[in-house]
Amino acid sequence: MKIVQKYGGSSLADAECVRRVAQRILVDAKNNQMLVVVSAQGKTTDALTKKYLELSDEFPSRESDALLISGEQSSAALLAATLRRYGVDAVSLNGAQIPIRASGKQGDGRIKEICTARIRKEWKQGRIVVVTGFQGITDEGDFITLGRGGSDTSAVALAAALKADRCMIFTDVDGVYSADPRRIEDAVRFDSLHEDTMLDLALHGAKVLHPRAAALAKQYQVPTEVLTSFSDQAGTVISVDAPRRTGVTASNPGDHTVVISGVLSSIPQGGLWTEILNVFSEFPCSLKFGSNVFQAAVSEENATALMKRLHHIIYK
Ligand code: ADP
Ligand code: ASP
Ligand code: MG
Repeated sequence: MKIVQKYGGSSLADAECVRRVAQRILVDAKNNQMLVVVSAQGKTTDALTKKYLELSDEFPSRESDALLISGEQSSAALLAATLRRYGVDAVSLNGAQIPIRASGKQGDGRIKEICTARIRKEWKQGRIVVVTGFQGITDEGDFITLGRGGSDTSAVALAAALKADRCMIFTDVDGVYSADPRRIEDAVRFDSLHEDTMLDLALHGAKVLHPRAAALAKQYQVPTEVLTSFSDQAGTVISVDAPRRTGVTASNPGDHTVVISGVLSSIPQGGLWTEILNVFSEFPCSLKFGSNVFQAAVSEENATALMKRLHHIIYK
């Protein structure tokens, strides 16, 4: 099988995490061709961003991208070296070495094309390939980043280009939930989830999968799963055959408000709808309705309380 695995920042936060991830890869790589996409360790991208903002709030975006890609470069080298230490052959490659061609605004690039020849060559030599997420290379030969959280998109795009049998997104929660489980303690974990619900949740702020990754998974029918790197538990399988579900998300538009969205699997029936509207009347907010999404912009201090109330009504 061809397997793509992506490990996020928290999964690679320190040496112990890198070793744990390497051990897991060793097991999964037996009899499989394995490509691993990595994010920067822990909060490295935030720390690098802080560094350039300390120097100037008008830091040139070409240079901020050149700085930010260093986080993923270092993760890839550390993981490939750890795998080699464990006795398997592994090689790290960045967006220019592959190459992953991308275009658009610096800091918000879109992948246009991925050349898979180098990866296939490394696989032929029996190597595990470790690729830097979050980055591509422009036609001018410059690095460009893909937007915060963009390593998920690198993984799904690589899985699509390689026609991988599995694309496993490893993170710090054990799947996709009806709401952020760190915010809503009784959030419900989904074993499987329809690709459209995944896309809607991602577009409305469920950080667990980057929206462009969800869109690419749907467009290219990439068999994608979201799972934890901290245990062997099964995660959430995303597919066209899985049920649509209802979820509540939060996003920050950057104006000190929080937009709470309800992504609905179906139109709520009379009683439920009245209850939802009653909850909104308790909170000062501006409301918007779409075909299967309702949204309310609230103050930061009211956000979690509103989310909890909505989630409770929907999942009681
Ligand atoms: P990574 O570094 O692995 O990419 P992220 O921090 O980007 O991880 O995404 C994982 C986080 O997404 C979780 O820790 C969780 O707090 C958050 N999250 C938000 N909404 C959801 C949801 N509906 N289901 C699961 N996790 C969610
Ligand atoms: N390191 C980048 C970020 O923190 C990309 C990613 O983690 O997906 O946004
Ligand atoms: Mg992420």
